[in-house]
Amino acid sequence: MTTCARSSRRSYSPATLLWAGGGTMSDGLWPFCPQPQEDESLFSWFTRVAHGNYLTTVQLQRSVLEGSIPAPRDLDRFACDELIDNLSRHTGVSVERIHHMHYGRWAGQMQKKDDGRGVLPWLLPVLKGENRSPLGQPFCPHCLAEDDVPYMRLTWRLSFTPMCPKHKIPLERNCPHCRAPVMVHELAPGINLDRCVQCGEHLGHKTPKDREEWATLALAGQIGLLKAANTGKTSLGRYGAVASTDFFFVTLRLLQVLTSRTTALPLRAHIASAVGWSIPPSSIPRLRHLHRFNFRCRAILVAMTWWLLQDWPRRFVGACRASGISSRDLLKRRQPAPFAFTDPVQRYLFRTADMHEAEEAERNSRTYSVAWGHHRYWKLDGVSPGVRAAAKIAARMNGDSVGSWVDQTLREKLERDSLI
Ligand SMILES: [Zn+2]
Ligand SMILES: [Zn+2]
Repeated sequence: MTTCARSSRRSYSPATLLWAGGGTMSDGLWPFCPQPQEDESLFSWFTRVAHGNYLTTVQLQRSVLEGSIPAPRDLDRFACDELIDNLSRHTGVSVERIHHMHYGRWAGQMQKKDDGRGVLPWLLPVLKGENRSPLGQPFCPHCLAEDDVPYMRLTWRLSFTPMCPKHKIPLERNCPHCRAPVMVHELAPGINLDRCVQCGEHLGHKTPKDREEWATLALAGQIGLLKAANTGKTSLGRYGAVASTDFFFVTLRLLQVLTSRTTALPLRAHIASAVGWSIPPSSIPRLRHLHRFNFRCRAILVAMTWWLLQDWPRRFVGACRASGISSRDLLKRRQPAPFAFTDPVQRYLFRTADMHEAEEAERNSRTYSVAWGHHRYWKLDGVSPGVRAAAKIAARMNGDSVGSWVDQTLREKLERDSLI
């Protein structure tokens, strides 16, 4: 299949489209009103509604949103009451059901408010404009391969749910054939949501994957965090019940510490050794923006964060002490933090500037990588300069460290040749 599935925006015009009954898109029920699937995201359902009525996603957005919109809008994040009322009136699906299909259903649970600016910590961006390049819609290839009606789940968009709970594999966001980011809203009407917009191939596949050592803890972490978001009932060990926004603040802070340039390696090394994992701490890149991690790295980070959150704050304090992490790494001067976080940090991990400086020097002198190869790109030693440069770019595009990307690429090649 080589047909390009990208939409042709000149072919249809919602303003002039007339139906058999003589009405336009603004009258009564639309001709095709599919029911939302279980856990379907609003953006996914909206795209299926548009396609069923011979429109592209953007064309239907222009007809239901006031004024003209120059670019597609991420409806999983920006679905206003007016749009939801409009959709309900034209599809017969209740307002409550539609409201439940977008990120707004968790309003006030994970963060106090969304001012509409920037990237949210808990919702992965998918469109162009939110980033320099689009990251793509997350999906589980096994789920798409099994779906009678292919659709995208809302929970795949959450940044703390990097694995499919049903198939227990990391999600993906690039086409397995051409590696293009998955852009569902750019598909032409009549093309199913399990097709790549670039090459037209199927996104779903059932290639078996080995269960990795961190998978169980990552799944426990994402299930626990999703339960906290859904119920709003959250507690932090010794501090008992806490507001869910405080719970997610602490979770985000731990994720930041696990990806920070100065604290990530010793803390990851400590956790990996405590849990008994063989992954070297440097196999996950230290990226400033959490949404840029690929799903494998994100799953390992969720697993580590969940491990730190248990038995709060005993395990967290022990890990920070063992890793030389102090209050000066953990507390930001201008950012107020919940009591359940500041109290253990000030009580057990407080350091003055002088003490901190000595500890940081000691921390920097340690090596946290495996015994062989100390410099950053040692796995590319002996590789020709051209391939070496391309491999660095490919790893970065994949949100991976070079070492882990080399491992994965070699594994794929060896599996294809039936050598492992
Ligand atoms: Zn799945
Ligand atoms: Zn493709």
